[in-house]
Amino acid sequence: MERTFAIIKPDAVGKRHAGAIIQRIEDAGFAIRAMRKAWLTKAQAEGFYAVHLGKPFFPSLTEFMSSGPVIVMALEADGAIKKWRDLMGATDPAKAAPGTLRKEFGSSIGENATHGSDAPDTAAFELGYFFAGVDLI
Ligand code: ATP
Ligand code: MG
Repeated sequence: MERTFAIIKPDAVGKRHAGAIIQRIEDAGFAIRAMRKAWLTKAQAEGFYAVHLGKPFFPSLTEFMSSGPVIVMALEADGAIKKWRDLMGATDPAKAAPGTLRKEFGSSIGENATHGSDAPDTAAFELGYFFAGVDLI
């Protein structure tokens, strides 16, 4: 079993799509090991996305991610990292495959509904950023 870290981003929470997205996560067979609501400060968003520091979209990304509440989750499944990224679809909703979450719920490359870790090392960092070991049930 593998764990990955997921966020339902402020656009999807604001549009009341969190319930539908969580349903899709359960339907896909993930175990939700931890879940809570959070409202990131700009500094927390900058720390979380530090890997993108210096990129042109870093200011808008961190502004957006701290613009409203999000739902953070620890997901577990066989091959959870790839499985969750496959369910999310491509970063740009316009390029995401039919049936993916970003196709269905995203509206632009910035407001793309969900986040997922992209590798084991980023999953470990991101899970630790939001959850302590005791939170994972
Ligand atoms: P995420 O990390 O949010 O799961 P991702 O791994 O598919 O998305 P990254 O390359 O890590 O994509 O980019 C992080 C986020 O930054 C994207 O989800 C998107 O919201 C934003 N982003 C990436 N590229 C661009 C871009 N060219 N213009 C605007 N925003 C972008
Ligand atoms: Mg990424």
